[in-house]
Amino acid sequence: MESLTVQGVEVPRLGLGTWRLTGDDCREAVETALDLGYRHIDTAQVYTNERQVGDALAASDVPREDVFLATKLGPESRAYDDVLRTTEESLARLGTDYLDLLLVHWPNGRPPGSPPNPLAAAPDHEETLRAMNELVDAGKVRNVGVSNFSVDELDTARELSDAPVLTNQVQYHPFWDQQDLRSYCRVHDVLLTAYSPLGHGGVLDDPVLERIARRHAKTPAQVALRWLVQQEQVATIPKATSREHLAANMAIFDFELTEAEMAEIRRPSKYETLKGFLKARVSG
Ligand code: NAP
Repeated sequence: MESLTVQGVEVPRLGLGTWRLTGDDCREAVETALDLGYRHIDTAQVYTNERQVGDALAASDVPREDVFLATKLGPESRAYDDVLRTTEESLARLGTDYLDLLLVHWPNGRPPGSPPNPLAAAPDHEETLRAMNELVDAGKVRNVGVSNFSVDELDTARELSDAPVLTNQVQYHPFWDQQDLRSYCRVHDVLLTAYSPLGHGGVLDDPVLERIARRHAKTPAQVALRWLVQQEQVATIPKATSREHLAANMAIFDFELTEAEMAEIRRPSKYETLKGFLKARVSG
């Protein structure tokens, strides 16, 4: 598994995303992933699967210290005491005494596109990060990070946090632009963790990716993932359930895209992103 080093921290370029993996499916997928060589697992309090991730880690022969384990604070876990309490709960569910990465899931406490709650107070990043920093000092969290933050929000978070902000986890795939954030991450040595790297499945039947994939004897999914891990400061966390998909997504380190292919693959399109998103929701 290839890694990259950001702020002196080694992070596997490819991880397993676990959103919408629950119950036995989740435990089996994480166990299979570890067996195949994955060493980076991404979960979140709102995914309600931390226990299954923890069961898989416990069942695996892979030592805990070989795995880069990340979770995210839920919307109810932003106030100082709540950060400390819910992180302890996450640690218990995950069966570990430390996290490699603890992320703030959303800058305004709710998923992008969802309506604001007029009764909820605006999240206080200073307070949340202060509690996260305390967890770092206590050795319970090795690195702090954010997710879905704009460049300005990331910049503010970096100013507020004593511990360096390791990453901003954001949507990033061939149809979603992150040029500004990428430039910022390169300048400030911040990791960009790309989520929904397969564009919610939208890249799978893309004609450009299909053509490039044929040239390299790969699949469109593998080309989309390769496109990400070939970029400076970028790691990615595709979600996959079957051994076949999990293994295919690992087989991206034995070929290289040309500069022309890299440029051709990048086609930001809100239409294509929405199409992939809706298709994934309709097909369940
Ligand atoms: P994704 O990884 O872009 O796509 C997952 C879909 O692609 C699944 O339907 C999966 O099917 C399929 N797939 C995976 N590998 C494949 C392959 N080799 N060939 C064909 N199909 C393949 O979508 P995502 O789950 O939205 O994003 C990945 C992870 O990012 C999440 O699980 C989560 O950890 C993280 N995320 C974070 C946020 C945030 O707010 N921070 C938001 C969204 C996602 P199977 O499952 O059937 O294999």
